[in-house]
Amino acid sequence: LGTDSVLRAARETRPDSLVLFSSSEVYGRTEGGAVSEEAVTVIGPTTVPRWSYAAGKAVGEYLALAEHRRHELPVTIVRCFNTCGPRQIDAYGMVLPAFLQQAISGRPLTVYGDGRQTRCFSYVGDVVRGVLALSRATSARGEVFNIGCDEEISILDLARRVRDLCGSRSEIRMVPYRQAYGDGFEEVPRRVPDLAKIRRWIDYRPEVGTTRLLEITRDWVRERQALDPSIP
Ligand code: UDP
Repeated sequence: LGTDSVLRAARETRPDSLVLFSSSEVYGRTEGGAVSEEAVTVIGPTTVPRWSYAAGKAVGEYLALAEHRRHELPVTIVRCFNTCGPRQIDAYGMVLPAFLQQAISGRPLTVYGDGRQTRCFSYVGDVVRGVLALSRATSARGEVFNIGCDEEISILDLARRVRDLCGSRSEIRMVPYRQAYGDGFEEVPRRVPDLAKIRRWIDYRPEVGTTRLLEITRDWVRERQALDPSIP
């Protein structure tokens, strides 16, 4: 509904450019290698709440692309893959801020499942730079782009790296999915973006790799806690 409202407003106001933030979640049950924008998506059953987000984002994409075709709306769609960095909060259970806060405060790092699931974490500054470049590229209108970093890491390795980088002695605790998310949760075992298209369009190259991202974000979490020790 939010996307629909923005698209309707844009029909009136005719912006020079509009970027729709979609998500890698639209790929659904990805397991193979890197996914490209044209990949067939497999979204799970409607009884699993996770997929409502994927379906919602996909509908937003359909609406925006229809608006582009019918009314020449200058819209570009980006599918973000685990964007992280300073000022990301763990209120929605996002893994990196959660691990950093746990490591810094000496609490156990909670790895869900067996920790072999993988993700690619990208630095928010790289993503913003890419989005701005895409929003200026007229050839990118009506197109969909993966945006992120393609350095893959398992969640268990992420926990170890965070703990080491923080000089922490926290234990790493394996938590069953059922305990973390309740019944009926479905994990995405592997999620890696194919970045060929965005490289072709705007020569996109993330500058901050996983280690640097962890350092930058660790420093921010520490600074924030130093300013206000009541923050968990
Ligand atoms: N995760 C974890 N411990 C946490 C929070 C998340 O092991 O405290 C795992 C989660 O199960 C998933 C991965 O980390 O496999 C990334 O989770 P997040 O919610 O950050 O992003 P998404 O699942 O949307 O990729």
